Amino acid sequence: MQYPQPISKLIEGFMRLPGIGPKTAARLAFFVLDMKEDDVLDFAKALVNAKRQLTYCSVCHHITDTDPCRICEDQSRDRSIICVVQDAKDVIAMEKMKEYTGMYHVLQGAISPVDGIGPEDINIPDLLKRLQDETVQELIIATNPNIEGEATAMYISRLVKPTGIKVTRIAHGLPVGGDLEYADEVTLSKAIEGRREI
Ligand SMILES: [Zn+2]
Repeated sequence: MQYPQPISKLIEGFMRLPGIGPKTAARLAFFVLDMKEDDVLDFAKALVNAKRQLTYCSVCHHITDTDPCRICEDQSRDRSIICVVQDAKDVIAMEKMKEYTGMYHVLQGAISPVDGIGPEDINIPDLLKRLQDETVQELIIATNPNIEGEATAMYISRLVKPTGIKVTRIAHGLPVGGDLEYADEVTLSKAIEGRREI
């Protein structure tokens, strides 16, 4: 079907989002047309501001509007533990659980030779730098339970173990192949509780 150009542009925009096919994109576009102009403006501003005002924390690489981020700045948190995750969304999932009070390190990816992603392409060199600080005693590796996540966990463990820092891997109560960010709070809490040394 031929849509007027402004609508087809909007549909194209929605189709770039994950999980949105042409039908859903068209439905969303027509929904926007029915919205009040002020609401559309607010929505558009929120999109632009999210992109412009957010940056990555120079310490842990979590998304933030302050640098260092609020988690890194929080003096009440336990600086002896760093939880290593693949994605900023994983930090948000962990924080929702409200049980973990240590620090984080966001890799922004996982090692994947098939996709040409090596250790230098994700934030592993930065992690190693952070570990030179003697307050760190344990590294919890909470990468996703799939091939890339496991490979990344093993790689980090091999590098870090000789330094004497304890390296643990979260338990696999998590669905295999599932992302950390989709785990519910109880599963996630159990996975952290049942972590084992690797
Ligand atoms: Zn941070």
